[in-house]
Amino acid sequence: RAKEEGRDAYRFFTGSMDESIIVRRAIEQDLRIALDTGEGLSVCYQPQMDGSGTIVTGLEALIRWHHAVRGELTPEAFIPIAEEAGLIDQLGKWVLEQACGVARLWPDLSIAVNVSPLQFRTHGCAEALEAIVRAAGVEPGQIELEITEGILLDEDEVVRDALARLRRIGFRIALDDFGTGYSSLSYLRKFEVDKIKIDRSFVKRLGHDNEAAAIIHAVVTLGHAMALSVTAEGVETEEQGQMLRLAGCNELQGFLFSEAVPQAAIQQLVDRKRTSLAA
Ligand code: C2E
Ligand code: MG
Ligand code: MG
Ligand code: MG
Repeated sequence: RAKEEGRDAYRFFTGSMDESIIVRRAIEQDLRIALDTGEGLSVCYQPQMDGSGTIVTGLEALIRWHHAVRGELTPEAFIPIAEEAGLIDQLGKWVLEQACGVARLWPDLSIAVNVSPLQFRTHGCAEALEAIVRAAGVEPGQIELEITEGILLDEDEVVRDALARLRRIGFRIALDDFGTGYSSLSYLRKFEVDKIKIDRSFVKRLGHDNEAAAIIHAVVTLGHAMALSVTAEGVETEEQGQMLRLAGCNELQGFLFSEAVPQAAIQQLVDRKRTSLAA
């Protein structure tokens, strides 16, 4: 996935190498200012549905940046820049603070926040995240931290330790983009998590090839055998939703239900009564 992101970032910065470096620098500068002022930055929330696709059980916080000159920049374009520029800690904390505000307003919903691998490298990161959540008057148990498998590649000890401390504090941990890493299965054995999120690349292939369905069934079986909750990401069609429901996924997330929306539109999503996916 890191590779994939790198490629995306590269595609975004077309043109000569020099130009790409200049653009990158400029974006880095603007991001620094945006983080200090909050201007142009916002967080949108995508609903996570129960296994039948009927009710909203949680929300995933996703950062948005509307750049005054360049327009909407995707997280895939600027998160790597933030990571490289040493701004990801500040960005991650800002998103968590916003998400905690939402957590307080919707105490019945679980709120998921993406955490960059780099945030785990900082000493005392678990306690820093806890401090933010407590200051907002939110129980860590309401917050789910989504980490990608790539995180776990190096520095086993540091990551394992941070995850253990976060779980002891009460945060729940979800393994994001599951299946795209290099050794998903060994990670599951080594690192204690609460949930796996099947990457949307598998969901996308549902209905087109039998292999994708077989992989999803296998992941659900494995996850449940390990007492983990299993979420499917990127659900776009009724057909996919039905297949995932039948496969036994605990939660479904994707454009079929809703894209990420501003905080002002959350209540509308929660109130909406959706017919469950046909079995
Ligand atoms: P992710 O955590 O795997 O988030 C899911 C991404 O898939 C989101 O893209 C979401 O809008 C998109 N998505 C959801 N449902 C569907 C669907 O049905 N079809 C398709 N095609 N896409 C769907 P987004 O918001 O552009 O974020 C991309 C990635 O950027 C995220 O992937 C996450 O890795 C990263 N990201 C976003 N916000 C943050 C943040 O606050 N902190 C950090 N560290 N990373 C973030
Ligand atoms: Mg995520
Ligand atoms: Mg994902
Ligand atoms: Mg992703």
